[in-house]
Amino acid sequence: MNFQFFSPTKIFFGPLGQYANEFDGFGKRALIVTGRSSAANGSLGDTIDALNQNSIAYEVFDKIEENPSTQNVQDAANAGIDFGAAFVVGVGGGSPLDAAKAAALLINNKDRDASTFYDPSPFTNKTASVLAIPTTAGTGSEVTPFAILTRHDAQTKGSIPHLVYPDKAFLCPKYTATLPKQLAVNTALDALCHLTEGYLTSKANPYTDMLAEGGLVAFGGLKGDLVSHNFNEDVRTRLLLASTLAGLVITHTKTSLPHQMGYALTYHHNVHHGAACGLLLADYLKIQPETKKTQKILGLLGFAGFDELKKWIRGLLNSTITLTDAEIERYSKESYEKIQKAGTHPGDVGLEDIKKIFYGI
Ligand code: NAP
Ligand code: FE
Repeated sequence: MNFQFFSPTKIFFGPLGQYANEFDGFGKRALIVTGRSSAANGSLGDTIDALNQNSIAYEVFDKIEENPSTQNVQDAANAGIDFGAAFVVGVGGGSPLDAAKAAALLINNKDRDASTFYDPSPFTNKTASVLAIPTTAGTGSEVTPFAILTRHDAQTKGSIPHLVYPDKAFLCPKYTATLPKQLAVNTALDALCHLTEGYLTSKANPYTDMLAEGGLVAFGGLKGDLVSHNFNEDVRTRLLLASTLAGLVITHTKTSLPHQMGYALTYHHNVHHGAACGLLLADYLKIQPETKKTQKILGLLGFAGFDELKKWIRGLLNSTITLTDAEIERYSKESYEKIQKAGTHPGDVGLEDIKKIFYGI
């Protein structure tokens, strides 16, 4: 057996105020990269307080879109460059966190622009430091090195090929209290997909398996809360812990078909990322070659079979999305090419398998 495990992000759990001194040491000028909601849930105010306590000047860029585009990231990076930012603080859901990572890379590589993220040539300089403060419990982006951007040139979403690990992640369940209930459900399903896909990819290792199993057990205990929209502090704490754990898993394993396929539902049909992956999850499990592991997943979550899992997810999402045969044909071909390139599916996966999953939604 050969494997490596490397997760350099230092994680802090609890009220941000008690960790204010952790903002010291990255430079005296910071760019805050965020969306609109952080002003209302306390995360932006707490971040500014922490920066002020360390006499760090800051610029706020609060125009990050959902599923941020390369251009949106360029705008954030330009704000940081104009301000002379030495480091970046991402505050928000996966969209601002991913944008913060990508902007940090541009800030230290002024000869490059966001349209060249996907070019094969490497960036010369190391990224500027990133601190991450999640306000959703789903993506795990606060610990992963991935930045997933919308590429209008390719009409899809995809991770930039550069790895940007946040230096520090500050987890505080207070910030997820303001999440609209359906968004809390959708983001939770993203974390569940990370755990499940990560457990099954060909890159899984004994440590990621242990983490994924722990996360799946945690989700098993949250099934009813997601149905009844019970997002009290205890539930939000457990969701945040599980989603960051899931981030540690995919850092090593990457994701798999539900994510590759889900990008088409998000790009072309505006389905939230977590909901898009969730819709595909049960039928994806059915085509897995590794039946021992899929049975284990069902057992850890407490479902009798794939259909029971599917019924639970359908109940959570109430999705009305329908795809035409032509759309399924197109998205399946694209997903097939991507999964072949990624090489994360354990065993052979055929175009017909992928179509079957799309027809299942
Ligand atoms: P999001 O796109 O960051 O946010 C969705 C919506 O929720 C936005 O309107 C956002 O508003 C709002 N919101 C965020 N926190 C809130 C809060 N506490 N209260 C009220 N509203 C809040 O959603 P997400 O699911 O967290 O992130 C999805 C993105 O992450 C996708 O682009 C996906 O591809 C990516 N992703 C990345 C990784 C990774 O490893 N890097 C893994 C999985 C997914 P504002 O933004 O305007 O504040
Ligand atoms: Fe995801």
